[in-house]
Amino acid sequence: MTEQISHVLLDIEGTTCPLSFVSGTLFPYAARELGPYLERHHQDETVQMHCQAVIEAWQQDSDPQARQLWSQAQKCNSVEVGATTVRQWHGSEIEPYLQWLIASDRKLTPLKELQGMVWAEGYARGELVGDLFEEVPGVLQDWQHQGLVLGVYSSGSIAAQKLLYGHSQVGDLCPLFSYWFDTHSGGKHEIDSYKRICAAMDVKPQQVLFISDSVAELRAAAAAELQVVLSDRDNSVAPEQTPIPTHTTPAETGSYRSISSLNQLQLNSVQPRSHV
Ligand SMILES: [Mg+2]
Repeated sequence: MTEQISHVLLDIEGTTCPLSFVSGTLFPYAARELGPYLERHHQDETVQMHCQAVIEAWQQDSDPQARQLWSQAQKCNSVEVGATTVRQWHGSEIEPYLQWLIASDRKLTPLKELQGMVWAEGYARGELVGDLFEEVPGVLQDWQHQGLVLGVYSSGSIAAQKLLYGHSQVGDLCPLFSYWFDTHSGGKHEIDSYKRICAAMDVKPQQVLFISDSVAELRAAAAAELQVVLSDRDNSVAPEQTPIPTHTTPAETGSYRSISSLNQLQLNSVQPRSHV
């Protein structure tokens, strides 16, 4: 018998928020606003700490293009030899390297931190609004009223998740969620991540419904015994979003229940919430 669902764990991109919001809005905003942000905030201690970390990574970066940018910066006397000496950095000194990292899709922790700070300011100024699929706020509110415990599991940082839900098109939706998980709980294709998350929520995996647009994520969650539903917004899961292992048969990939809107899920009321 299928267990009664008490918890709903939600992916964000492709599930509650269009993929285009992240690639078409958030990342271009960060790339455009990073330089001005650094100029405005270069006196801040946290910004300086991340700038110093960027300089150290740049100095050690062996990529020929990174080396070329480093030499150019030295020629302009904007970055000195022996630059790991602590000093105050101006945004214009490190921006060429940061923009190159962004353009090459290179991940660097201090860059990620700085992008997060740029987004936080953008949301606070009202220049960014968390763009959720239309039915999402109402459905999440209904589920919470029914007594379901809601959690987020996204590869974006918990800080970024809270910014998005905290500044949605209908205002702050953060209070609807009891749990927030990112890759600190493990990768989304790993079975153990889902076991860890259920343990953190203190619930049997069978009572948790995980919704995602990625078949690979659903496979891992299902292997950890969670109930799963595929979010297939346009009824055609993009292959690059769902790397299907070669040993998977079409029948297996088609075996997940799929929805194109959260409205299509009828979750029965559950007992009073035991977790806050
Ligand atoms: Mg997704």
